[in-house]
Amino acid sequence: MKLSDIQGISPAREKALHQAGLTTPENLVGFFPRTYIDRRTVLPIRQLHGNGEKVTVMGTIASVQESGFGRKKRLEAILRDDSGMLKGVWFKGISYFRNSLKKGEQVAFYGTVKRYGRFLSMAHPEVEQLSTGDDPGSSESDPGSDRFTGIVPIYPGNQFFKKTYITSGLLRKWALSVLDHTRFPEFLPDHIRNRFAYPDRHTAYRWVHAPESPDQYKKAIERFKFEELFLFELSVVTLKKTVFDKAPGIRMTNTSPVTRRFFNETLPFELTEGQKSALSEIKNDIRSGRQMNRLLQGDVGSGKTIVAIGAILMAMDSGYQSVLMAPTEILAEQHMHSLSQWLAPLGVNIRLLTGHQKKVLREDIQSDIAGGTAHVVVGTHAVIQEAIRFYRLGMAIIDEQHRFGVSQRALLRDKGENPHILVMSATPIPRSLAMTLYSDLDISVIRDLPPGRKPIRTRVLREADRPKVHRFLSEQIREGGQVYVVYPLIEESEAMDLKNATEGFDQLRIDFPQTSVGLLHGRMPSEEKESVMRDFTQNKIQILVSTTVIEVGVDVPNATIMVIEHAERFGLSQLHQLRGRIGRGLRQSYCMLMTGFRQSKEARTRLGTMEETSDGFKIAEADLRLRGPGDFLGTRQSGLPEFRYADILNDQFLLEVAKKSALELVASDPDLKNPEFNSLRRVFLPYLEEKKKFFRMS
Ligand code: ADP
Ligand code: MG
Repeated sequence: MKLSDIQGISPAREKALHQAGLTTPENLVGFFPRTYIDRRTVLPIRQLHGNGEKVTVMGTIASVQESGFGRKKRLEAILRDDSGMLKGVWFKGISYFRNSLKKGEQVAFYGTVKRYGRFLSMAHPEVEQLSTGDDPGSSESDPGSDRFTGIVPIYPGNQFFKKTYITSGLLRKWALSVLDHTRFPEFLPDHIRNRFAYPDRHTAYRWVHAPESPDQYKKAIERFKFEELFLFELSVVTLKKTVFDKAPGIRMTNTSPVTRRFFNETLPFELTEGQKSALSEIKNDIRSGRQMNRLLQGDVGSGKTIVAIGAILMAMDSGYQSVLMAPTEILAEQHMHSLSQWLAPLGVNIRLLTGHQKKVLREDIQSDIAGGTAHVVVGTHAVIQEAIRFYRLGMAIIDEQHRFGVSQRALLRDKGENPHILVMSATPIPRSLAMTLYSDLDISVIRDLPPGRKPIRTRVLREADRPKVHRFLSEQIREGGQVYVVYPLIEESEAMDLKNATEGFDQLRIDFPQTSVGLLHGRMPSEEKESVMRDFTQNKIQILVSTTVIEVGVDVPNATIMVIEHAERFGLSQLHQLRGRIGRGLRQSYCMLMTGFRQSKEARTRLGTMEETSDGFKIAEADLRLRGPGDFLGTRQSGLPEFRYADILNDQFLLEVAKKSALELVASDPDLKNPEFNSLRRVFLPYLEEKKKFFRMS
């Protein structure tokens, strides 16, 4: 069957379908409605009683406004149809609906109607936007739209469809006609399908395009989401069994003299619960005889470095070297500093390796590493260079791993024979996303912060507030505080941004004549960077003007003020990372987001989120929602599975369910040998090959 075989698909319409990416009859069946209107209960507003009946009303938004204050604050939208009007009321999600409901727009509200005095109202109705797609009510000539009866699917509006009058009604009719001619075979195992009461594939498609009840399309769509997630998880579980977990690992026995001394004597504070459990998970891994592949997630300031140190010492106690790789020289330098402070007294030999060292020094370090006298190597990506040979690498740690690509992880791993791998990330990726992205890793999460941290106070400020800001800075510096002032650095306009930072630096020196002001940016020679950073750490510099080179990892607990210039130009996660530089000690910390006149709506949302919360997980979720997974993770992270129906943000529960089903299936029949799984195998094996291609490179 071809598209043109379907009745009603003219050459012009076929072309439009092609342009929209629908090239086969099967594509039409897989093209799902974006929403449904339950026409069985659409009523004119005049006919409503307001005694709690559940109905759908359709009409035009006449006004949207906020009213009330504090806990009584709410958003009200008046919906008008030919017969009367009704008020939609929201007490939650106010800003979302204020932005998404537009005056003059056609929408349907579904919910419970109540009467208050003269007014009919619906609290928190479900909203369906009708104007962007084609409104089935207005398309008189559309044979497929069962006007006023049944449940009407509304398909995604599309620029190509509009020109050729391809309506929702037609799309549905064509999908049904394909379903009449082609049989879509089942491949989910019966026991799984029965457990969740999913319809078979063919029926599910019918329920998607011509449901008799909302339950039908909900169940059918869930089935297709599940199907996608299940195949994905099945591939993950299979790969884990056959590829990842096969890797033998160094069995590290537990003679822990140095580790114990460090935690019992050197460390000046109690570990948090999160740190303890991460450490015990690592300990279990390295004793297991299998290679550890672990992601350690924890918000900025949660104390991941200590966990890394623990891993390093455990390896050392078993006679192995460790490497700790950081994305910037500043951070590598800082790790070197804190590791030396803590570990040198215990007799640990630590070497720092960066790209800018003199040849003689470098050769000395290299031979130290190759000869095994260096216990720990701290460095930038210089540590994965060809020339670096380890004597006996047992533990490879990557800090701020989102700054590195998958291939760098592989290079580091190849520096030893299956060394244990620990990657650390301060970008708190929502769990579902972490499960999909890092499916080859086990995950440890530190949820708690070290005790005694005061929440950072954050304010969005304007140029007019600057005198106030300066007075505040003077006061804080007088009381012993230290300040970061950060300017954005965006690659396209690097020169200009640098100018911003240097000009800001010059101005601050004029404005704060009594204070020592320092400048730090990526273009400075390494020694200069080091010395500025050292001076700031030792409180010889009180105001540090910087580009975003300080974004990751930098730890100076006495610094309590973060001023971010042009804050509207930063992404949410970046703002959170920057703010994470403060609030590390016991004093109250302050973050000031300086903004210009003009801001996009998105920028305002971002800054507002920063004012509202300091929870890294919430911020990551918000960022993810604003930018979508692709941008959120940046170009470095390829390989994020593209799901067609499932949404990794909203379908986390289903993802877990799918994972569980996949685990059970593989446990009972690892190779899917049972004839019962023949059809699953036919679909799954090609899928698995694709996945292997990705993981082989990581
Ligand atoms: P991050 O997770 O952002 O890498 P760090 O490892 O830099 O965090 O730790 C942040 C700060 O908290 C450091 O100054 C560190 O010494 C301190 N710290 C870490 N763990 C604890 C703890 N359990 N109690 C008190 N302070 C801690
Ligand atoms: Mg860190």
